[in-house]
Amino acid sequence: MTNLVTNLAAAVEEYGDNTAIGYQGSETNYEEFWGQTGAFATALESRGVGADDRVAIYLPNVPPFLIAFHGTLRAGGAVVPMNPQYKAREIGHLLSDSEAKVVVALADLVPFVKEVQDETSVEHVVSVGGDADGATELTEFLEPGDPDIVDRDDDDVAVQPYTSGTTGQPKGVQLTHDNLASNANAASELIPDGIREDDKQLGVLPLFHIYGMTVVMNSTLFNGGAFYPLPSWDAQEAVSLIEEEELTLMHGVPAMYNDVINQPNAEEFDFSSVRLCGVGGSGIPVEVLRKFEELYEPKVYEGYGLTETSPITHFNSPVEGRRVGSAGKTVPGVDSKVVDDEFEEVAPVDEGPVDEETTDLREITGEIVVAGRNVMKGYYGLPEANEEAFTEEGGRRWFHTGDIGYHDEDGFYYVVDREKHMIVTGGYNVYPREVEELLFEHEAVADAAVAGIPDERRGETIKAFIVPTPDADVTADEIREYCLTNLAEYKHPREVEFVEELPRTTTGKVQKFKLRGEEAE
Ligand code: ATP
Repeated sequence: MTNLVTNLAAAVEEYGDNTAIGYQGSETNYEEFWGQTGAFATALESRGVGADDRVAIYLPNVPPFLIAFHGTLRAGGAVVPMNPQYKAREIGHLLSDSEAKVVVALADLVPFVKEVQDETSVEHVVSVGGDADGATELTEFLEPGDPDIVDRDDDDVAVQPYTSGTTGQPKGVQLTHDNLASNANAASELIPDGIREDDKQLGVLPLFHIYGMTVVMNSTLFNGGAFYPLPSWDAQEAVSLIEEEELTLMHGVPAMYNDVINQPNAEEFDFSSVRLCGVGGSGIPVEVLRKFEELYEPKVYEGYGLTETSPITHFNSPVEGRRVGSAGKTVPGVDSKVVDDEFEEVAPVDEGPVDEETTDLREITGEIVVAGRNVMKGYYGLPEANEEAFTEEGGRRWFHTGDIGYHDEDGFYYVVDREKHMIVTGGYNVYPREVEELLFEHEAVADAAVAGIPDERRGETIKAFIVPTPDADVTADEIREYCLTNLAEYKHPREVEFVEELPRTTTGKVQKFKLRGEEAE
């Protein structure tokens, strides 16, 4: 039986004295960390919280996140991670839908929990980083103990993260021990030599999100490496931590890499201790990747995946050679294909990436679907959503990613864009990512996003939102002209707006609905 806690216990056995967590200059070794998870599990058990009960974690990246996460699993419970940027209304739905019994919250966030507690099954509120009314401070809550690992079946849920709610209410994604363990193992084996006990991992991706949780935190801790969490993203702070602690692994979303290269002192940053940089969460513009690699030593390897797939399904392998612009090949243990509306397979192209100017994307693209041990058990309590998300075929459960892409004969996949981001303008389909890639090549552009704005005549009109570089001297007309020179006429942004920054989620995704001036996507 796969059990995430067994993986951690094995690492504790083998690497007991190694540093597990480094935070603000102090270090916790594996033995000590195991003791903390035992104290958390004991505290849960003595309050009658155990197998299958849900414990919500409402924290930024601080060590108590890791204690509560692995402590909950040790007690046989399941974790409901919540974005610490959420307010009362947003967590209200997550807490009542998941029927969480315990919430571990940053002291400052406890009032939001209290505001909605009556409408939920929450019995205990634990505060971190200070006292808060109606909550027990974490150190008071913990009870020393070394409980046995609670047996879990492969299909028992370990974590239930919620989608960000782009299609109505956020949906609870049931991820089992087996889903997550198989993916954490795959993630660590994909990189050269796997994750090693001498690796030091920057923990700047939010832990409530699947990428930070599995690829970064779990795969590090299951292999004896050290994890250095940072509560929020700040390029200067992250690079200082890398330099001071000589970190060896960094994972980030494209917006983080773009932020690093746009720092005024970017040329002075020292990444020489880092042996690998990983990127995912959205496609990294080729130009951002190129500039980062021009400035620094480590190569950036791209992965693709979703919360529902635990997350990684594709990886641009450093060992087998990568193809820039691709999200990579399907990872071992996962199957994927590109299908049309009838679920018929779309044939691969000879070799990607194709020239989008001369290729009719409609001929070669379809929806990317995936199957494998990493695919979620299903959305929690939502039979209709599950019906839509899966197609049974050939004895497999194929999960619909909602992403449009194509693949090539060598097995590389190319994500064109999310299906719902496609712009239909004057009868033409335009994928924003293509226009964004071009904008990133312009020297005056520090950041860019493209969205379809409702338009009476064309249905939608293409609008570019641009964050200019600090010393840029560029006009909207020049940007339009530049796009017209490099793209088919119907793809060029008719409107260009210069902005100070783009609205993004905590995982770096541009909130396109905000650009379109809508309430929610
Ligand atoms: P929701 O499911 O509510 O829309 P979300 O977008 O935050 O929320 P995630 O599971 O975080 O959900 O994101 C998965 C999506 O991220 C994929 O479907 C894909 O569109 C995008 N993505 C992830 N990695 C890549 C990549 N390497 N290239 C392109 N897109 C990517």
